[in-house]
Amino acid sequence: MDFYALPIANLIDELSKLPGIGRKTAQRLAFYILDMDKSEVEKLSASLLEAKEKIKFCSVCCNLTESDPCYICSNKARDGSIICVVENSKDIIAMERSKDFKGLYHVLNGVISPMDNIGPNDINVKELLSRLDSSVEEIIIATNPTVEGEATALYLAKLIKPLDIKVTRIAHGIPIGGDLEFFDEITLSKAMENRREI
Ligand code: ZN
Repeated sequence: MDFYALPIANLIDELSKLPGIGRKTAQRLAFYILDMDKSEVEKLSASLLEAKEKIKFCSVCCNLTESDPCYICSNKARDGSIICVVENSKDIIAMERSKDFKGLYHVLNGVISPMDNIGPNDINVKELLSRLDSSVEEIIIATNPTVEGEATALYLAKLIKPLDIKVTRIAHGIPIGGDLEFFDEITLSKAMENRREI
């Protein structure tokens, strides 16, 4: 049992709901926040609200963005004939760091995972299909090399190939079970270069 004053207990409760934050860390953060200047706490809480209020999904690629379409979709210099499909917005940041890819992206916002009751309708598959017109020549599937990521890649390939669009999968110099956002740009850049048709 904790014996904190209610406002502290509430703060610890809310912080401990964040991913990777256990009870102990939540307590440490709560006391840190209580120690901060009031103006710093106001900045922190304002930035939380501002991010939540101003960030939305790009209506084209489903990336998180402040303006719609996002800065990548609205960049005329990007090659619209090639779309790289990723699990989430963080993966775009990783890909952009490698600076090799000049096409567009599509964010699935998850992967198909029957174990977790996540089917094709729960991720942005129909949004992807609606983008596939004659101007699109290749879809690169860059889901993570996990069981779910591989299954999602195969599912998408099956849907897209009949549309006469080349479907490739990034090569994985990437360990199975890995997470795209944590790979360095050379690994990612090699993985894109060595992609294979599926
Ligand atoms: Zn976009």
